[in-house]
Amino acid sequence: MSNCIFCKIINKEIPSAVVYEDEKVMAFKDINPVAPVHVLIVPKMHIGSIKELTEENAGILADIHLAAKKIAQELGIYEKGFRLINNCGEDAGQTVFHLHYHLIGGKSLGAKII
Ligand code: 5GP
Ligand code: ZN
Repeated sequence: MSNCIFCKIINKEIPSAVVYEDEKVMAFKDINPVAPVHVLIVPKMHIGSIKELTEENAGILADIHLAAKKIAQELGIYEKGFRLINNCGEDAGQTVFHLHYHLIGGKSLGAKII
């Protein structure tokens, strides 16, 4: 999608610190990290949010989870643990409308919301 910032990152029109890439998924460092490791994992295909998932495209969620596991291993947060978070829509505070999962770790992450 032409006006989507994450599509521009995927197409290398905007620079980013890429930590993982395969045929379907890319991951890059969040520009405003909240923990020592804060990576955004995105599908290369533009999907706006969980609301746009369908029977046809939902397989990308398995790809994202498998990428998260590999990235957690590569970045040294696998053993002690990590969070994988998605914000969907207004009340969750989603600000970029290209599906993404925050992979966060590298410190004790404190209180859980749920
Ligand atoms: P959301 O609030 O939608 O769940 O998360 C969007 C995330 O994208 C935020 O954590 C924000 O820091 C990150 N972000 C926004 N613009 C850019 C950018 O241009 N480059 C990178 N690497 N991260 C971005
Ligand atoms: Zn996009």
